[in-house]
Amino acid sequence: MSDPERVLVRLPNWLGDVLMARPLLFALRGAFPRAVVRCVGPAGPMELLRGDGTAAEWLAWPEDDRGRGERVAGLRRWRPDAALVLPPSFSSAWFARRTGARRRIGYRGELRGPLLTSAPARPPRGDRHLAEEYLALGGELGADAALRVPPPLVVEALPGSRTALLGPGAIYGPAKRWGADRFAEVGRGLAARGLAVRVVGTREDRPVCAEVVAAIGAAAVSLAGETSLPELAGLAAAATVAVCNDSGLAHVCAAAGCATVAVFGSTSSAWTAPLGPRVRVVQRPPVCSPCFRRDCRIGYPCLVAVEAREVLAACAELIAEREAA
Ligand code: SF4
Repeated sequence: MSDPERVLVRLPNWLGDVLMARPLLFALRGAFPRAVVRCVGPAGPMELLRGDGTAAEWLAWPEDDRGRGERVAGLRRWRPDAALVLPPSFSSAWFARRTGARRRIGYRGELRGPLLTSAPARPPRGDRHLAEEYLALGGELGADAALRVPPPLVVEALPGSRTALLGPGAIYGPAKRWGADRFAEVGRGLAARGLAVRVVGTREDRPVCAEVVAAIGAAAVSLAGETSLPELAGLAAAATVAVCNDSGLAHVCAAAGCATVAVFGSTSSAWTAPLGPRVRVVQRPPVCSPCFRRDCRIGYPCLVAVEAREVLAACAELIAEREAA
């Protein structure tokens, strides 16, 4: 089969998942350097990928039906040779079908098999890293499916050497949120090493970020809700170390090249550990883990078991590696 000339990629909707699709986009670029790749996905997260040079166009998936119809019609006129469907939903496969893409590749499920021309079975969660699952879809087209950590995001590093970032929020739910008191303890430890502590997150994370700042003291400041995603990536690119929950923010920090410690609770680090040159995962999984629940009926022992000293030790390791490099 000849190489595709026009490849459509329907990106996932979550920030972290978009960043875990980067290896696939680099693999497509390597396998088909003359192909035109168009990505459709969430506008904000795609802003981070523009500097990668892996796609010719980054097309936001509109909120409204009319905009979506126009987007599909435009892609249909473009006549994609292939569409890679990364989200597992029926609607994303239906989207690919409506673009008229000759080959439509995505994982089986949600009754969408008839809409796809290639629908392999998805492995159980955690058997392979999510980035490898995406790469395997590109492998169906002939791209290299081996996982390689992609280069750091191309972002403008913002002023802030000798800083530490703390991200105590996680939009997914409390089963991904390590305690604010533990984050504060880590922040005090990093401040004692001479680092200025910036507590970051979304507008919704402001209360927990303020709680962490108050418990750390003068060495900390909250920037929650005050930064765009590219600015967050720029802060991470300049920072000495970042400590985050298993959240989109952890993926941004890792992808920006920051030494990143990610605390995992109810989910699987084998499946969705952040990708980056310097990443440590701290997880104390009980027998019930991973449950992938957003909350917990038994008091979150998976999160309570993670102690601040373990996280500080992981930070110290990463900082020592950076200083030795
Ligand atoms: S059930 Fe187990 S893995 Fe799930 S949130 Fe509770 S302690 Fe964590």
